[in-house]
Amino acid sequence: MNTKIPFVTKEQVLDMVKKYPTPFHIYDEKGIRENAKAVKEAFSWNKGFKEYFAVKATPNPYILNILKEYGCGCDCSSLTELMMAQALGFSGNDIMFSSNDTPAEEYVYARQINATINLDDITHIKFLEDVASLPETISCRFNPGGLFTISNSIMDNPGDAKYGFTKDQLFEGFRILKKKGVKYFGVHAFLASNTVTNEYYPTLAKTLFETVVELKEATGCDIKFINLSGGVGIPYTPDQEPNDIKAIGSAVHEVYDEILVPAGLGDVAIYTEMGRFMLAPYGGLVTQAIHEKHTHKEYIGVDACAVNLMRPAMYGAYHHITVLGKENDICDHTYDVTGSLCENNDKFAVDRILPKIDIGDYLFIHDTGAHGFSMGYNYNGKLRSAELLLKENGEVIMIRRAETPKDYFATFDFSDILKDVDYNAGK
Ligand SMILES: *Cc1c(COP(=O)(O)O)cnc(C)c1O
Repeated sequence: MNTKIPFVTKEQVLDMVKKYPTPFHIYDEKGIRENAKAVKEAFSWNKGFKEYFAVKATPNPYILNILKEYGCGCDCSSLTELMMAQALGFSGNDIMFSSNDTPAEEYVYARQINATINLDDITHIKFLEDVASLPETISCRFNPGGLFTISNSIMDNPGDAKYGFTKDQLFEGFRILKKKGVKYFGVHAFLASNTVTNEYYPTLAKTLFETVVELKEATGCDIKFINLSGGVGIPYTPDQEPNDIKAIGSAVHEVYDEILVPAGLGDVAIYTEMGRFMLAPYGGLVTQAIHEKHTHKEYIGVDACAVNLMRPAMYGAYHHITVLGKENDICDHTYDVTGSLCENNDKFAVDRILPKIDIGDYLFIHDTGAHGFSMGYNYNGKLRSAELLLKENGEVIMIRRAETPKDYFATFDFSDILKDVDYNAGK
């Protein structure tokens, strides 16, 4: 069995905890940069290529700025994500607004900063026109329905997903938009999540490219870009083979040459909106074992909980765990690794075979760089952790501080009844 090696050692973590208490998320700048470069190169055959990083995966300004150096834009899905992109100097063309069930104020703001809007539904044409105005360039999200299959295996179920236009609506929508004066068009689709196969993008691209050729013939619309969106996965379990972005890029290139070029669409830009693939492997959650419990099962209680990383609790998602300093020890213990929430699903691992864990050990929970910190919440009054960055030169900096009780109480505007909050409690 392959294994997963953390990008930090126990010695490095012992150093970090002198300054930053656990739990915390740490990101690996070197890994982020190498991967962003590889993505850029894999699609360099396409003149207009742009990766719009899905901000929701890791909404940290410091990290968005690193990605910006590799030509990445931002894919936003809410007002605050748009605000962050704008504040970081991403401009109109660098911001994709792929939202759904969109509130009016978000469209208004997206239009103000001239973000490229990706409509989720045909009824949003009128909604957008009414609350803001229709832009010169617009994108529509396509959902062909049915099951998404690759090599006869089911990858996902778009027919059961709330997103996008049906094929008929897409054609109708393009005609309406053209009549209303929209000049340039894009098509977007996100049909399967966390795909650990090099076939996802090329298979999706084929469906989208064929649809675009039909759309262009039927509507005469000037289609400028095709957005393959997110969904490129990472190997959360050690036995999975990582995706090869270079192979994915060239396979998309082949489909492009086969379908779009002969149809006179050889200038169409390819966009992506990857979140997970850009960041997940380059983040880890560091947490300390603080309790062990021997009842009907063997439990290790750590100082992180599901508010720091929700995926295991929410989807039963697997996140590999390394006990730092025990990388080479024999795995001969079976544990449930738990957080402290009053929810029985607050477990980072169930029946996981690990080396013997002692209280005080530091655990590295892998692949939390995307959809990790960002899914955090405040249940049980728990606070969000800090985010740290391991720089290329080995230095560790804090790129977001941990929440404090003061942050937690900040939204109560009742100083008359909450006048004696002790913000030094527990210190
Ligand atoms: C979540 C999301 C993404 C990113 O998905 P990943 O699985 O992280 O690649 C991209 N586009 C849209 C519209 C999304 O909602």
